Amino acid sequence: MAEAVVIRELNKQFASPDAPERTVQAVRSVNLTVEPGQLVTLLGPSGCGKTTLLRMIAGFEEPTSGDIMFGERRMNNVAPNRRDAAMVFQSYAIFPHLSVYENVVFGLRLKGLSASEIKAKADRILEITGLTAMQKRSPNQLSGGQQQRVALARAIVMEPRVLLFDEPLSNLDAKLRETMRVEIRELQQRLGITSLYVTHDQIEAMSISDQIVVMNGGVVEQIGSPCEVYARPASRFVADFIGKANFVKGKVVPGGVEISGKHFTLANPTTKPDGTNVELVLRPEAISLSDESGIFAATVKRAMFLGNVAEYLLDVEGLGEWLVDVSNPGERGLFQQGSRVFASPSQASLHVLP
Ligand code: ADP
Ligand code: MG
Repeated sequence: MAEAVVIRELNKQFASPDAPERTVQAVRSVNLTVEPGQLVTLLGPSGCGKTTLLRMIAGFEEPTSGDIMFGERRMNNVAPNRRDAAMVFQSYAIFPHLSVYENVVFGLRLKGLSASEIKAKADRILEITGLTAMQKRSPNQLSGGQQQRVALARAIVMEPRVLLFDEPLSNLDAKLRETMRVEIRELQQRLGITSLYVTHDQIEAMSISDQIVVMNGGVVEQIGSPCEVYARPASRFVADFIGKANFVKGKVVPGGVEISGKHFTLANPTTKPDGTNVELVLRPEAISLSDESGIFAATVKRAMFLGNVAEYLLDVEGLGEWLVDVSNPGERGLFQQGSRVFASPSQASLHVLP
């Protein structure tokens, strides 16, 4: 039932809205495979081409060049309503004058299914989206989260081969976003629908994805599992966009790298020859602090207590400023601003940028 989505060398150029003789390259040579039943997110800053890519997959936008395949079928010339793809939008796009039930069955009625088939399908989907008790309500009697659930129910009741989400949670408050993303992920896994999910929120992407596609300026910067893109970013952009990163200058030496005269062994050895100057990514939580001993001497420039974590800005001797996160800071108390400390990077998490 579930099908792969394969994108090959996909490009989209728009005429510039301001100067029609100029073009905007919104999507540039994108290659991507979504395995059957996987959830893949398109992640990147506003304007990087996520929506354009998703709309081409849905059929709302025609590619300038390249191929879109669902399984073995090339979709480029197939009308949106014949692609068996369903889309869930940020704005929900549910009908305000129809009840929850009527919203959910709207597409089924257009398909011309029998009344009993429609009811059976709707009942099942209302049940799994937790909407059974409110099926008679009109949308204005629902919270934002419930409205988004109606939009989701309306999409999956069609049993699409591909489910597309464009920032579906952006209109919800932070707490509800967290609950809803778990619901969406559980439902997607239970139904096994191949899904593409657009977001600019890296935490959301990390929490729900099998694979993350990091985009920048219409180009795919990296495709990988949440762990891969976090631990082994392919570029400075990815390292910076996904989480917080310190960039540290070092040199490749036999068996590892040298940073300001100190030797480190790498968990993922680099293929660069000895003597090459490199840039390393060092995550703030991969540095431990002590006021007694450690690898690099530093001064605390700023200390912030955030409950579960203390965030420090250090001035590290010879290496510049580092962000450091220390978990469970209540245990020992804060290192005060101005105090002298030692910062020790964990070797395992040092990553050489390609
Ligand atoms: P995202 O969803 O990542 O924020 P979009 O795909 O909406 O990005 O936009 C990518 C780029 O394409 C932007 O520079 C945007 O201004 C441009 N763009 C999108 N749609 C159109 C259009 N219909 N006409 C001209 N330019 C467009
Ligand atoms: Mg968008």
